[in-house]
Amino acid sequence: MKRQCQVCGQKNGSCNRYILKNGQEITICPSCLAFSNDETAKIARQAHKEGLLVKGDIKRQK
Ligand SMILES: [Zn+2]
Repeated sequence: MKRQCQVCGQKNGSCNRYILKNGQEITICPSCLAFSNDETAKIARQAHKEGLLVKGDIKRQK
């Protein structure tokens, strides 16, 4: 299943996903994570430093 990057809108199988401490989810591709100046990318970089990367598929949350 491909995820859609929230920054550039591309569907990329290698998108990273982060769940922030406030419960917000960010899906972002590696190139946006590395190079984008978008606010979402900045938040994702911070989340990355904090180790909030979600690996694989997480259990459904409701
Ligand atoms: Zn992207």
